Order: sequence, then C-alpha cells, then structure tokens
Amino acid sequence: MTTLLLTHPACLAHDTGEHHPERPDRLRAVLAALEDDAFADLAWAEAPQATIEQLTRVHPAEIVEAILGVRPPPDELVMIDADTVMSAGSAEAALRAAGAAVAAVDAVCGGQVDTAFAAVRPPGHHAAPTVPGGFCLFNNVVIGARHAQATYGIGRLAIVDFDVHHGNGTQAVAEIDPSLFFGSSHQYPFYPGTGSPRERGIDGNVVNMPLAAGSGSAAFRTAWADRILPALDAFAPELIIVSAGFDGHRRDPLAQLRLETEDYAWVSRELLAVADRHTGGRLVSSLEGGYDLEALADAAAAHVRALMRT
Ligand SMILES: [Zn+2]
Repeated sequence: MTTLLLTHPACLAHDTGEHHPERPDRLRAVLAALEDDAFADLAWAEAPQATIEQLTRVHPAEIVEAILGVRPPPDELVMIDADTVMSAGSAEAALRAAGAAVAAVDAVCGGQVDTAFAAVRPPGHHAAPTVPGGFCLFNNVVIGARHAQATYGIGRLAIVDFDVHHGNGTQAVAEIDPSLFFGSSHQYPFYPGTGSPRERGIDGNVVNMPLAAGSGSAAFRTAWADRILPALDAFAPELIIVSAGFDGHRRDPLAQLRLETEDYAWVSRELLAVADRHTGGRLVSSLEGGYDLEALADAAAAHVRALMRT
C-alpha cells in the first residue's frame, strides 16, 4: 500500500495578513509532522498548477478569470469577502491547491498509489461554482472529482467532508448531480448556515449530519457509523474524495465540536473500509480547515497514517 503526499511551496505564499486563522503556519505545521521518521514510506510530489480546462469544469470561465486576475502588489491584500483574502501569491497557491487534487486523482486512478493526500491551502469546500468565500477560492475537491469523471470514466463519485464547517460549495454541485454523493458532519447551527438534514439532494445523494456545539467524540462517531457511512456504502462509489478539515478538534479556536485526534484516525479507517468494498481501496484526500497548529498537525498526521494503513 502506497500513499502520495502532494504539496507546493507556493501554497505558503498565499498571505492572508496578520491575525488571520487560515495562515501559512498551518501548512508548515502539517508538513513538519509528515517529515517525521514515521512517514518514511510516504511519497512526496510537487503539486502542479490546475489548468483552465480543469478549473472550468466546475467554475465558469469568468469566475476563474476574475480570481486569477486578482494580483495585488507585494504586501497589499484584497478582500474577496468578509474573511477571504488574496495577496500577490494567492492566485498561484489556488492553482496549486486545485492542481494537487487533480494530481492526487491521477496518481490514484492511474494506479501509481492507493491513496493520496493534498497538503495545500487555500482550502476549497466553501467555494461554490460562482461564489468564492469562507477562506476558499476554487473548490479543490470538486475540481478533482470532475477530473476523475472526465479522465478516468468514473461514474459514481463520493465526496465526504468531516471539516467542522458545512461544505456548502461542494453541496451546491452535488445536490443537482446524481452521479455525486456528498456526506458531511459539521457543527450546526454554525457558519456557513447550510447543512440541515432536510437538504437531501436528489434521492438522498446528500447526507448532512449536523452536530450541536460541544457534541464530542461519541456523537461524531454515531453520526458517521449510523448515517453517513451506510449511505456512502449504499451509494457504492467508484472513488472517494475526502474534504479533510481538522477544525472539529477540541483545541480548535474557531469551533466547539470537541473531537479528539483519535476520532480523525477512526473516521479515516472507516472511510478506507468503504473504499475497500467499492473502489479497490482508492481514496483521495485534500486539506480543508484546522486552526490550532498542534491539533492540526496531530490530526492530519493521524489521518495520513490511516491512509498509509500503518
Ligand atoms: Zn472548517
């Protein structure tokens, strides 16, 4: 079993300004954790830039052009929405973050590796086709999903999301496309306001499991074991892509879900068990949130260890 890590230094050059939680040190913390001897078997590769063709499978050309056209001078920042910032390095970072998901799909669907993790920023799951926001510019996992469908003939593709925030951008695509499944647990009510269990897509291809603030490990595991994983199993995906956000951790300053590092290892192993039944063990994962550096590093490392089956 082999696992590929995709990342790129350009993702560190996406400058969000002082005091912004989605900051370059997040990625540095994840990469430092994965440089440990325990990850000696992890293969590393540089993330390519996504192409315009790959981006426009998800986002209209005018949105792609508008985002890539934001190139402020060094040390100046441009606000995309109340909490989404672009700097001189952001456009390339966004291209690398989306390109990492594409390359992860290529490596997994091409048979070079079994699993792949994209350690990138900016994150993507709040980016709807026509509306960037919530720290996200392009929807990395959906761009990876559309690449898998267009290039490898994948029919049924599942995106699952354990970030503490609801992946509203991903759901906006999945809820009108029965070839996709979207399963999410998230703190609720909470940003971005979507993710009610009444949002069920087409014939239940969207499964939302809202969790109250303070829920903790047991409620999280029950939501996945009783609802999301059985629905995912029933969907019988040909590929699973994970929006891997670690901001549900009890140390996270932005949310109050109170998960433990071991919960991320558990849900990752459970997703791999579904992958073993339906996708030949193929699974792609991309970093979303996680804002306490120590918790993020620990939980991401636990997730990647699970992908490596060690
Ligand atoms: Zn989040």
